[in-house]
Amino acid sequence: MITFMDTPPAADDDGLLQRLKQFHADYFPLHQQRFQDLVADGQHPKTLFIGCSDSRLVPYLLTGAGPGELFIVRNVGALVPPYDGSHGLHGTTAGIEFAVLQLKVKSIIVCGHSHCGAIRAAYEGVPAEAKALQSWLTLVDEALLPVQPSAEALWRTEQRSIVLQLERLMDYPMVRRAVEAGELTLHGWHYVIEDGDVHVFDAQRAAFIPASVATHIGAGPYGGAIQPP
Ligand SMILES: [Zn+2]
Repeated sequence: MITFMDTPPAADDDGLLQRLKQFHADYFPLHQQRFQDLVADGQHPKTLFIGCSDSRLVPYLLTGAGPGELFIVRNVGALVPPYDGSHGLHGTTAGIEFAVLQLKVKSIIVCGHSHCGAIRAAYEGVPAEAKALQSWLTLVDEALLPVQPSAEALWRTEQRSIVLQLERLMDYPMVRRAVEAGELTLHGWHYVIEDGDVHVFDAQRAAFIPASVATHIGAGPYGGAIQPP
């Protein structure tokens, strides 16, 4: 049985109620047809975006995408758990399976970013009570460098972690199958918040290239064939 604590309604400190009203009154009428088409025809996003939960990473701003274009899975650190074929309660794994098998997305982007608190925490630890977080961050372990976490080391680890997650994606049978069939491409992005630039991983050069000067967003191969940065 659910019990409700006798608390007053939450204060709307962020003006969220006001923003909901504005969305309905201002934005929605201008784009009503698009939303109704997306309901009538269903969603057919071509991209699975696996991004860090960080509030400064705004996928729609970076990509200019609108409703129906990105299927988004976000978590602490933009991490991909190892595929183990289990029925475990794993949101990120379920999201990958759904995007690839059901939605048949054409590309998967793993998007980390500069000044990532998850990567820093992988070096510095988390509060003892945060047991799930502690386990979760072991997904970064292989990307860690045997040095003190200087700004440069953190930057490199953020990028190494992105490549590591791409490699792990290739262990998902449905991902590998689609990649090998030429129906799916994987991409690693490192969003540099302070520069407003996304550095895209070029697998052939094994380097992250600022999108502002890149000519493509280099797809694989991934899975041990490349040297992380
Ligand atoms: Zn982050």
